[in-house]
Amino acid sequence: MARRVSIFGSTGSIGVSTIDLIARDPDAYHVVALTGGHNVAKLAEQAKTLRAEIAVTAHEENLPALRDALAGSGIEAAAGEAAIEEAARRPADWVMSAIVGAAGLPPGLAALESGACLALANKESLVTAGPLILATAQKHGSRILPVDSEHSAVFQALVGEDLAAVERVVITASGGAFRDWPIEDLPNATLAQASSHPNWDMGQRITIDSASMFNKALELIETREFFGVDPKIIEVIVHPQSLVHALVGFNDGALMAHVGPPDMRHAIGYALHWPERRKLPVDRLDLARAGTFEFRAPCDDRYPALRLARDVMDQHGMSGAIFNAAKEAALDGFIDHRIGFMRMAEVVEEVLTDLSGDAGLINAAFTLDNVRAADQMARRRAVEIIGGA
Ligand code: NAD
Ligand code: MG
Repeated sequence: MARRVSIFGSTGSIGVSTIDLIARDPDAYHVVALTGGHNVAKLAEQAKTLRAEIAVTAHEENLPALRDALAGSGIEAAAGEAAIEEAARRPADWVMSAIVGAAGLPPGLAALESGACLALANKESLVTAGPLILATAQKHGSRILPVDSEHSAVFQALVGEDLAAVERVVITASGGAFRDWPIEDLPNATLAQASSHPNWDMGQRITIDSASMFNKALELIETREFFGVDPKIIEVIVHPQSLVHALVGFNDGALMAHVGPPDMRHAIGYALHWPERRKLPVDRLDLARAGTFEFRAPCDDRYPALRLARDVMDQHGMSGAIFNAAKEAALDGFIDHRIGFMRMAEVVEEVLTDLSGDAGLINAAFTLDNVRAADQMARRRAVEIIGGA
């Protein structure tokens, strides 16, 4: 029987790579729901090609255009946040969570509540609400599989191993677009410069987050939440080639590395076929041609986001949601040319400092409402700070 799959954020970079894999074996899959944002033409095209049951755009104003584009196809059209969440409640066996940002959390939770296996590219779900998403999976007997390349790599290195024997978890970072720039030039980095990644082809927001290392900061927190390891044993190492995705060190001194070309279809395919391994259309690494693997310690002055992530892990509670929301607002500020590149980390730090004294807020129970409240408070504060900048 065909597997029922849904893809949240199907029009984005991860969504398109997921479809690339599914479309190679159309009879094996029945596509339930696809969702996107403003690119209605692409969403409709995907839905028609894959014969999805329903296509949902995040924005109400796009509904007429989506309806027009799907006219006569028999595919349902819907719009808005609630419609996305509803689509996530439709029975499915495997759901890709590839919306960017905190907006990915509600549909992910809904999919877990419906018993689907959730392939989690949306790292913000674990950063903002790790305990909530893990408890939801446990309560409904649903599984979460990591899709972020580093976390997929760690997950694969742990197959058959005992977590108690793990001594260190090392996630690699390319260092982003500005890894070799003089630090004093970073405040003048432009949007175009920050939007181009040396190794990976990704959405614009995560590409800028890679340049600022906010992406790795989120991934530190993601590692701690997903694998439940002590933050002290998680290391970040700059590896400009992006060929080693992560390493796991065991108590006998062995360090197991996951190595491969930077192609997200590996991690997506692993999550799609787990627990089996199946042939995937990714390049095989020619080690002699790859030549050298370099590693360097990340410099704190260049990447303040990493230090902030360590503070967030120490504080835990709602500080992950605050950190992520402040980061999203600061990133909006950079994309809209309201603040400079290095100002993003300053804004996030100010928001964290302002809100971290509120014990009631930080220690609130992990419910979706509390996470949303912390998120909104942090966004408001970030916007005030940016406005006054
Ligand atoms: P992208 O910007 O290319 O695509 C994002 C998708 O989310 C699009 O379909 C867009 O329409 C949709 N979207 C955006 N805002 C939305 C909203 N408010 N509500 C509903 N839908 C919305 O992003 P991407 O690079 O594919 O990344 C998706 C997620 O996967 C992110 O969380 C990112 O951190 C993570 N991730 C991406 C990569 C990668 O290689 N691209 C690697 C690891 C993890
Ligand atoms: Mg990653």
